Amino acid sequence: MKLRNILIVLFSFQILFTLLLKYFSYQGDLSSELHEKILKYFTEADIQAGIDYSRRGFFVSIIASLLDFTLAGAFVFTPLSSRLEEFFQKKVGGNFYLVVFLYFISFYLIEFFISLPFSYYFGFVIEHEFQFSNMTFLDWVIFKSKSFGIGLFFGTIIMLVVAFVLKNLPRAWKYILPILSLGFGLLTSVLFPIIITPIFYDFGPIEEGSLKNKIVALSEKANIRIENIYVIKESQYSGHTNAYFTGWGESKKIFLYDTLIKNHTEEEVISVLGHEIGHWVHNHQTFEIVLGTIQTFLFCFLLGYVFQKVKAEELVPLKEFYSPSTLPFLFLILSLIGTVIEPFSAGLSRILETQADQEALILTNDKKSFINTEIKLAKDNKSRLNPHKLEIIFEHSHPTTLERIELAESWKGPN
Ligand SMILES: [Zn+2]
Repeated sequence: MKLRNILIVLFSFQILFTLLLKYFSYQGDLSSELHEKILKYFTEADIQAGIDYSRRGFFVSIIASLLDFTLAGAFVFTPLSSRLEEFFQKKVGGNFYLVVFLYFISFYLIEFFISLPFSYYFGFVIEHEFQFSNMTFLDWVIFKSKSFGIGLFFGTIIMLVVAFVLKNLPRAWKYILPILSLGFGLLTSVLFPIIITPIFYDFGPIEEGSLKNKIVALSEKANIRIENIYVIKESQYSGHTNAYFTGWGESKKIFLYDTLIKNHTEEEVISVLGHEIGHWVHNHQTFEIVLGTIQTFLFCFLLGYVFQKVKAEELVPLKEFYSPSTLPFLFLILSLIGTVIEPFSAGLSRILETQADQEALILTNDKKSFINTEIKLAKDNKSRLNPHKLEIIFEHSHPTTLERIELAESWKGPN
């Protein structure tokens, strides 16, 4: 069988599978056994709110997916992509990098404007309907414009660097790109809170007081030195809550959403931070970076190999490997690989999240606050409390709320 045909079959399977998974996610797990277990911690209304929120916009999300697939199919299996590149080539003459730049910009604009109405519907209309969003329409436009500009800026730099490496190092690129992407990943984790966060958020150091003292005591207990604790003003945008760590070695920073502090007791905030510290204690970040780099190496080899084979068949309109018009083809291959490995990466992530939960319980020694946090978070975010098993296997990076509560219930700590 021709490789092109194999790709078309895999692509069709991917579309079917995506739709099927959406259907199962819509259904959820409606077994009465699960329902009874959930009712120990939640009301019928909580369960229904999760169902309503997760089901809202079902058909619109199907249309969005189908549109995405159609666009990907058209760009990969018809001459559309190479025609676009040729068009720019004619306009600007032989300047390769200018063609790369123009191709990327048009690709980015097409993608952005096609996804814009969906982004407005899901990110603005539905978020208001469920009373999550505090944004005015103007706030939303500003937020979107900033994301657009940042994506365009970094996307252009990445594209030009990748094009340079591919064109000038036809053999070594497989080794160079994973190393560059590792470097870029480390750099963004340091620069993100300094450059990107301030573009979107107001934030400042946490107030002196008992919460700060408790956080310092917690990090000392875990042997983690914290440089700064910041409070991010998420309430200007939404009621969603979050907390995260950034930085490396001696310069760790904690970011807490003001919504988290407002809606939770100090003990509950500490429980959330205990989980984040759990990730540090178990070196999950380092583990994920090493794994990610190995993965990038393998992907590069695979992409190079598949490209050569498919190009040799001359059935898919492909130019050179470094040509900008090859980009949609490479994205398609990556997305196919992604679908295949999704359950493995999601499963691994759930294992790490469980480990962080266990560490939170050990560090805080407070399973009551842990359980209350889980209940409150699920209620506040209208989480789906009865997700379908297939959805969990393929898409959930975290254990379900009920699993996390049950983990805490079974914890044999001092209280
Ligand atoms: Zn986590």
